[in-house]
Amino acid sequence: MTDPLPLFFALTGACFGSLTAAMAWRLPRGITVWGRSACPSCGHGLAPRDLVPLLSWLLLRGRCRHCATPVSGAYPLIEGATALFWTLCALLMSDPVAGLTVSLLGTALLFLALVDARWRYLPDAGVLLVALLALLPGRMDLIDSLSGGLAFGLLALGVRWLVGRHLRREALGLGDVKLMAAAGLWLGPFGLPPFLILSGLTGIAQVLGLRMAGRDTGDGVPFGPALCLALLACVLLPVA
Ligand SMILES: [Zn+2]
Repeated sequence: MTDPLPLFFALTGACFGSLTAAMAWRLPRGITVWGRSACPSCGHGLAPRDLVPLLSWLLLRGRCRHCATPVSGAYPLIEGATALFWTLCALLMSDPVAGLTVSLLGTALLFLALVDARWRYLPDAGVLLVALLALLPGRMDLIDSLSGGLAFGLLALGVRWLVGRHLRREALGLGDVKLMAAAGLWLGPFGLPPFLILSGLTGIAQVLGLRMAGRDTGDGVPFGPALCLALLACVLLPVA
């Protein structure tokens, strides 16, 4: 009999992807996260058949059932990417509990990166979820985890203070500082060097990419997506 776990992870991941896309849309706009989804164009409430991840969008060919306004392709993309990530976690990690923890981490990081890229802030709820997942029992020695959180957090605060004092600009927002402390909880103090190298390189690539695409507005880029990508890479690749 084939292992049902990857299929279970794929379906759960698609649902979490749908939730992530909805939260990233609602939270920064101050829309309640509990109410039923509605078409932002005509306001029609969406029925359960319109809320099936990926399938609803494909069957309706990316349009609202009521007013035919195009629905952003970002939704199926986020749902599909999350489902794929969860499936890979199930296939590649021998322990299902570790697979589930890393799947949830990846989903929380995707949410944070999406919100920071568009709105330039990191919602506390997402950062808190990343921190709590790091502290789940049996993952890492608690002392290692806490000293990592402290080291990462203090370093980020120090950089924020130094740059603010000498260059009179904000290099790291407070959300970045909190996310770095949460990353420290995941990686422990010895995870700091690879994390710094990866997030630095990702940040530089992001700036260069925007510049080459002629979309550099000159007021800096949000650092959250680079931090999210670096943390996920350090957790997945045993370099730390
Ligand atoms: Zn509509």
